[in-house]
Amino acid sequence: MPKIGVLAIQGDFLEHGKMLDAISIDWSEVRLPDQLEGLDGLIIPGGESTTIVQLMDIYGFRDAIKRRSSEGMAVWGTCAGMIVIARKLLDRRPEPLGLMNIEVSRNAFGRQVDSFETDIQVSSIEGDPIHAIFIRAPVVTNVGPEVEIIAEVEDGKPVAVKQGKLMATSFHPELTDDTRLHELFCRLSSS
Ligand code: GLN
Repeated sequence: MPKIGVLAIQGDFLEHGKMLDAISIDWSEVRLPDQLEGLDGLIIPGGESTTIVQLMDIYGFRDAIKRRSSEGMAVWGTCAGMIVIARKLLDRRPEPLGLMNIEVSRNAFGRQVDSFETDIQVSSIEGDPIHAIFIRAPVVTNVGPEVEIIAEVEDGKPVAVKQGKLMATSFHPELTDDTRLHELFCRLSSS
């Protein structure tokens, strides 16, 4: 069984914890870089990416996460977490970690439709579509050749991507009671 950490410096980390509890996964809150040691996977939650990156840099997370990722720790960014792990943003702030070869645009669904819900098919997940909740969500605007697009919204915008042991979703699976994406990430973490 994988050991999963949830970055707990800002955002909806407790909701991710509840999902992991629901599938009986051993997880811990990560508040300092040395708590990354021994983890098989790290979830970076939704929240406010500028605040998350600012606090990450104050606590010294940037190099520690990159190092643990290069050692094989899986990383999943949801919403703001997707922005945090991107290689490049179309926005001036924040300075992303550059873990995953994706280009991302923040708040990409426009002001009027800041938040919406829809059902999407995720290619690695069997059964019914996933109910996806988008809250001032980012979108992937470009991907490197090694990146697999596993879900897109109707107009073809990618909203879930995978690259080796890295995963990013624009939406918030932790706000539903569907644990299939958390199960997918746990499988990736123990692979
Ligand atoms: N709009 C937020 C940002 O740019 C992300 C929103 C979210 O995580 N729900 O950081």
